[in-house]
Amino acid sequence: MHDVLIIGAGIGGIAAAARLAKLGYRVRVLEKTGAPGGRVALMKRDGYTFDMGATLFLMPQTYAQTYADLGERMEDHLDLRRVEPNYRVHFHDDTYLDITPKLVEMREQMEAEETLMPTDYRDVWNLARGTAFGLSHNVLQVGYLRPQNRHRRYGNLYFVGSSTHPGTGVPIVLISAALVEQRIRKEHPAPARAVAVTH
Ligand SMILES: Cc1cc2nc3c(=O)[nH]c(=O)nc-3n(C[C@H](O)[C@H](O)[C@H](O)COP(=O)(O)OP(=O)(O)OC[C@H]3O[C@@H](n4cnc5c(N)ncnc54)[C@H](O)[C@@H]3O)c2cc1C
Repeated sequence: MHDVLIIGAGIGGIAAAARLAKLGYRVRVLEKTGAPGGRVALMKRDGYTFDMGATLFLMPQTYAQTYADLGERMEDHLDLRRVEPNYRVHFHDDTYLDITPKLVEMREQMEAEETLMPTDYRDVWNLARGTAFGLSHNVLQVGYLRPQNRHRRYGNLYFVGSSTHPGTGVPIVLISAALVEQRIRKEHPAPARAVAVTH
């Protein structure tokens, strides 16, 4: 019998699982693809490794805080180096675009600029309620109106990740895991007998 069952081993599920295990809950994680990562999973093919999702390391302090809350130091686990350019987009006519944090260089490469709204994602890509990254932040899906991180009727069913509070992107999902951990800790305190052992 597990105290907490987590469905989905994306960043949200993994971060929530690690936090709750650290607090003494017995945690089990179920993942339908058989490998962790979700939208930041890796694909290996023909000797190459592809990042399936997140490219940019944003809001480093949220990563550091997650490690710190787990009693670890981020520097002991990650060897972070700036990659310049962040990545290169190749076009069919052999031209390319370097994505770089150097705004002047970035601007010099730009010939046109287009702004996409949630309605464009809906109309062009048929993403009815949002974006590729989870629910969009339209007026009916932000703040209190965003799906809450606990089920209205089932008090022991919680939601973590990019389509609940506070929103999308790896650092924000790490914050989501911290919020869910705080809520579970308050509403369902860990049994004193439970000791979490992770392998
Ligand atoms: C192309 C792309 C680029 C991005 N770029 C960035 C970036 O540069 N920087 C950044 O910070 N963020 C970026 N993001 C966003 C970031 O990757 C996501 O917000 C974050 O990874 C979402 O994590 P999550 O845990 O909420 O959801 P997910 O990663 O979707 O995890 C959900 C998991 O649940 C599993 N699952 C679903 N249903 C079931 C079920 N019934 N039973 C068991 N398991 C189930 C899925 O297989 C998956 O592993 C990008 C996303 C994409 C797609």
